[in-house]
Amino acid sequence: MTVLNSAQPWFDPSLCLIGGAWVPAQGDETLALVNPSDGSAICEIARGKAEDVDAAVAAAQAARAGEWGQMTALERGRILTRLGQLVSERVDDLAALEAADVGKPLTQARADAVALARYCEFYGGAADKVMGETIPYLDGYTVYTLREPHGVTGHIVPWNYPMQIIGRSVGAALAMGNACVLKPAEEACLTALAFAHLAQEAGLPDGALNVVPGLGAEAGAALSGHPGIQHVSFTGSVATGALVQAAAARNVVPVTLELGGKSPQLVFEDADLDAALPFLVNAGIQNAGQTCSASSRILVQRSVYNQVRDQMADAYASLTVGPAMDDLRLGPLISARQKEIVSGFLSKGADLQIAAQGILADHAPETGAYVKPTLFADVAPDHLLARDEIFGPVQVMIPFDTEEDALRIANGTDYGLVASVWTRDGARQMRLARALHSGQVFINNYGAGGGVELPFGGIGKSGHGREKGFEALYGFSSLKTVAAFHG
Ligand code: NAD
Repeated sequence: MTVLNSAQPWFDPSLCLIGGAWVPAQGDETLALVNPSDGSAICEIARGKAEDVDAAVAAAQAARAGEWGQMTALERGRILTRLGQLVSERVDDLAALEAADVGKPLTQARADAVALARYCEFYGGAADKVMGETIPYLDGYTVYTLREPHGVTGHIVPWNYPMQIIGRSVGAALAMGNACVLKPAEEACLTALAFAHLAQEAGLPDGALNVVPGLGAEAGAALSGHPGIQHVSFTGSVATGALVQAAAARNVVPVTLELGGKSPQLVFEDADLDAALPFLVNAGIQNAGQTCSASSRILVQRSVYNQVRDQMADAYASLTVGPAMDDLRLGPLISARQKEIVSGFLSKGADLQIAAQGILADHAPETGAYVKPTLFADVAPDHLLARDEIFGPVQVMIPFDTEEDALRIANGTDYGLVASVWTRDGARQMRLARALHSGQVFINNYGAGGGVELPFGGIGKSGHGREKGFEALYGFSSLKTVAAFHG
């Protein structure tokens, strides 16, 4: 079946992967995928339900009991490394799928595919380097620890960065020897399916990765509450994350929740403002602001506030929004529904001063989910737009006077995912790195080049648990302590 005109017809998107076989959802129901650049239908995907999740979990359990469970860490690592190579070879195809499905400008979609390959490479290399420790104990004892896979892990993935989120969660879980059941978002699941095809090509044994597309309330709820899984990794909204955690709690299963944020950048008067500018803007508008670690609050010391506001406003004035295939700085939002959510927030900012807005490309179809990137100036820290996650290309600028003010404002939301500090003062860098309530702090940069190697996750409403980096391997395993008495 041809998935897209621009991509090779290399798989049938209407199927689930269960135990190594591509099968329709039971009952043969499907859902339509829509291209947000113009609202056109792309293809049908499976509408998996509880019975499909049951079958996928059973297949994963069989994989754990069979070939996959018996493989050495070295063999698992080699498969992941091979998978990374196959992803690298298909970067353009994957980017074309993601551009159509998510509305991501091609350059950004390519970067996600490259990151997916890098996750496979990183976790492939790390698989056989997870070690325990020996612990000094009582006389006559030898005590050591073992890191063991949880068993079957569930992965509920959103639509904003399907490839990167699959890479960081499924990649790490497979490296540790778990068997995975993946539920991609109903709005965007082509690259998840493509990835699963490549995993088969790389030699991943049947059942080690199963994919059940479907609705959150059906397949997602069935997966998060399934008694046959031992860990859930979820990325998405706070409300759904709380449901997932409650469902997993009924089975006393650990969860990793990555729930977004309201991440600030703190700009002090001694900062290199020219170096800061591209990070200030890009961290807000990348992927049309639909990024969990988007920097939606720009806090600027009053003495340089007007200068930074004017520079950011100039940058905004040249931002153009249009179809993903045009590869502009911004594409559409994921859906008409998301456009409605973001437009709702914009209307709640009617009392605020708009410092600048981007431009909608002339030829952008009216049926696409476009909003203009918008920069609000002089926003009070307790304004709704400065507290709530908008998940669109909207940034607020907040002036501050002192370091204490900046810290209080930065820490003044329910979230804590990412923060950055722009200053040349080394002592201030160190003080704020400690004092900011945030899972990651960047100093004189933001987002650090993709950060495959860097542990990532939040505090507060941003969630808990860490993915990315070596740390994720600990999250996708449990620690066993062995105490041997030998006299
Ligand atoms: P969502 O949290 O509802 O969906 C994310 C994933 O969870 C999808 O795969 C979905 O199918 C699944 N899901 C939905 N309901 C479920 C349930 N009851 N049980 C288990 N899984 C379920 O997010 P959304 O509705 O797509 O977007 C709404 C808002 O969420 C956005 O405006 C944005 O603020 C936020 N969001 C955050 C992120 C992030 O990266 N942190 C990603 C997507 C959306």
